[in-house]
Amino acid sequence: MATIFTRIINGEIPCYKVAENSNFIAFLDINPMAEGHTLVVPKVENDYIFNLDNNTYIDLMLFAKQVAKCIEQVIKCKRIGIQVIGLEVPHTHIHLIPLNNEIDMSIEKARLQLSPKKMQKIAQQIYDCWLKNREN
Ligand code: 5GP
Repeated sequence: MATIFTRIINGEIPCYKVAENSNFIAFLDINPMAEGHTLVVPKVENDYIFNLDNNTYIDLMLFAKQVAKCIEQVIKCKRIGIQVIGLEVPHTHIHLIPLNNEIDMSIEKARLQLSPKKMQKIAQQIYDCWLKNREN
């Protein structure tokens, strides 16, 4: 059965998209740990990041870097944290989390409830940056 992220990639389920190329997509986490919390996802399903082939792994990291640079421009924060868990959704994804303190990366932290309008605005700002600066 297709993962929820494959269904997003196929357009069956909506998302707040912030970047996309032929191999990867990035969209806001639906239950964000911080404003701008983004998931970076390879379009091909693979449950575990360390099972990706080397080229896909490297390209995923480079894509995530480009996305992080745009999140930095939109969300005021000290830096973008990077986290890989994958216990909830069995489809490789990198969490990019704007942070100001170590606690901002804690998976036990209460998730934010942002309005659709707010999510859309954040996503659009990051996507605009992505379109302007994308390298491929
Ligand atoms: P993990 O698999 O890394 O433990 O967590 C999966 C993440 O995906 C969670 O942070 C969760 O909020 C997010 N998530 C789960 N389902 C959806 C969804 O349908 N849309 C979006 N945008 N995020 C989701």
